[in-house]
Amino acid sequence: MKKHNFSAGPSILDESVIRDAASAVLNYAGTGLSILEVSHRGKEFAATMKEARDLMKELLDIPEGYEVLFLGGGASLQFAQVPMNLLKTKAAYIDSGTWANKAIKEAKLFGQVDVLGSSKDDLYSWYPKPWDKVTADYDYLHITTNNTVYGTELREDIDVPCRLVGDMSSDIFTRPVDVSKYDIIYGGAQKNIAPAGATFVIVKTSALDQVDRVIPTMLKYSVHLEESMYNTPPVFPVYVALQTMKWYKELGGVKVLERMNLEKAQMLYDEIDRNRLFRGTVRPEDRSIMNVCFVMNDEYKELEKEYYDYATGLGMSSIKGHRSVGGFRASLYNAMPKSSVEALIQTMRDFERKH
Ligand SMILES: *Cc1c(COP(=O)(O)O)cnc(C)c1O
Repeated sequence: MKKHNFSAGPSILDESVIRDAASAVLNYAGTGLSILEVSHRGKEFAATMKEARDLMKELLDIPEGYEVLFLGGGASLQFAQVPMNLLKTKAAYIDSGTWANKAIKEAKLFGQVDVLGSSKDDLYSWYPKPWDKVTADYDYLHITTNNTVYGTELREDIDVPCRLVGDMSSDIFTRPVDVSKYDIIYGGAQKNIAPAGATFVIVKTSALDQVDRVIPTMLKYSVHLEESMYNTPPVFPVYVALQTMKWYKELGGVKVLERMNLEKAQMLYDEIDRNRLFRGTVRPEDRSIMNVCFVMNDEYKELEKEYYDYATGLGMSSIKGHRSVGGFRASLYNAMPKSSVEALIQTMRDFERKH
């Protein structure tokens, strides 16, 4: 039976990318060696790394003055690395969910943090947009553009009078982004790009080296810029990231991906709104097109486990909602085919008919 992978992360990759990765595990770039056992200083991997950085710049139309890094440590390390490198006195944060919260916690270790907006009291069911409170004396504003856990998303690149930092772990490559509005964009690669292990960081080089604090060498962005590979990068994830980005390019780039994503998400939200058993948990205007969260309507609550078992039995993998929200979450990352969304919708329809 075909499995439909709705996992929130690490998550679905395109089958062609997985096949390519499998073949590189056996023989990488004609070297007769596995990608798992080659030096990151060898000419083949140096070329892979360069191509990956360049292709990210091309796909996202990244302007001059920015660099792309693939580092370790996950997006969670960026929660600390960003303030370490950018926070002088005070920074503004938006509390839009679990990940934003963790970013806030780390930033507080390095300076004053003003949380300008939060939807916590409503279980993060909408996206706070207090942009008028952002003033020029902040070192930066930090936003989490897509809230993987609660399924809210900010699908625009806002104008603010200070630097802007975006955690785009779960919505990078899902739409065209105006990178020039940001000083740093970062994210774990394991949601739309690669297996776990790589973190992408898009950084405006002029924003760096402005703080006085002592920063450990590994955590200075500028070190990674200067010595292109300061230490051993996540070699295999970077290789797979490159294959994914090549596939994105073949498909036609981020505009095409956005169209596909909007269509997939719309189909599923339409079914959630139509089906009398289910309801969405997020305000319609803030609904994420990557992570679709829904629950059973109150009068059908007791059917939740039954539906979960039913859909899972039909190949719908990882549709359980995050433990803090309950219900269901279907993650529709770029590599999720429309046919898988249709299969999920079919289970919802058939289940409604039975009840
Ligand atoms: C998954 C996720 C993270 C955490 O990423 P790690 O690589 O596991 O540290 C951070 N932010 C967002 C928005 C995420 O979806």
